[in-house]
Amino acid sequence: MTIPHSSPLTPLVDVTSVAKRFGAHEVIKDVSFEVGKGTVTVVIGPSGSGKTTLLRGLNALELPDSGEVRIGDIDVDFGRIHPGRGGRLAKPDRELVRRYRAQSGMVFQSHNLFPHRTALQNVTEGPILVQHRPAAEADDQARKLLEKVGLTGHVDKYPYQLSGGQQQRVGIARALALEPELLLLDEPTSALDPELVGGVLAVIRDLAQEGRTMVIVTHEIRFARQVADQVLFIDEGLVVERGTPEQVLEHPTKERTRTFLQRLL
Ligand code: ADP
Repeated sequence: MTIPHSSPLTPLVDVTSVAKRFGAHEVIKDVSFEVGKGTVTVVIGPSGSGKTTLLRGLNALELPDSGEVRIGDIDVDFGRIHPGRGGRLAKPDRELVRRYRAQSGMVFQSHNLFPHRTALQNVTEGPILVQHRPAAEADDQARKLLEKVGLTGHVDKYPYQLSGGQQQRVGIARALALEPELLLLDEPTSALDPELVGGVLAVIRDLAQEGRTMVIVTHEIRFARQVADQVLFIDEGLVVERGTPEQVLEHPTKERTRTFLQRLL
């Protein structure tokens, strides 16, 4: 029996043998893992181990050199897809990558909001310009999302009028506005002053409780323990250890994981 991709038994995301190099530097070596629908995967690992590159590969901001990723019903064999002369992908592949990218939304370490647009306009921009949705509908949805991330009353403010934590919450609302299957968060709190971290983590925790599928790169181990269904420890471009937070964070079997965790304490 073949199980359709939409079956709850099938993971939402399948990453198989993904690799990526920059010049001679093999940043991701052979990474495979799955993400169940409605689950949270936390990725931890030392600086420079390839975590951001992996996340960017899931959003096609970087194209892996080889390996395969399926997100929902979009499956890309990166070993087959290569830019031709002129550095461009063939048209059908460009279309495939566009559909693949639309499966996920990215929240960056530094939110990258448009400085001359209000919180509301930052959130409506994608739905209106990329998805060509009617402005009134996008506006309505953006207000709901900004309320969800605790920013009612701030919708007409510009980024400079908001705290770093509030800006990051606008960044989360903006990613959600495109209604992705998968939310990717790259160290969402590491650029924030310590007193602002809690508010952003609380929003992410709420999203986890709602059953949002997320992959989060973070050094917040306590938070990882609370929200993660699985933890991946990545070092030198390889998944060194993978399991439940209990397994990886409390009872790591690999020396490298233990050393890394001890350094964080
Ligand atoms: P992490 O997120 O774990 O800190 P990254 O994925 O950001 O690691 O980076 C892994 C390695 O890849 C680093 O050595 C980094 O310098 C290198 N790297 C990342 N992006 C590029 C790029 N666009 N060009 C060249 N090297 C890169």
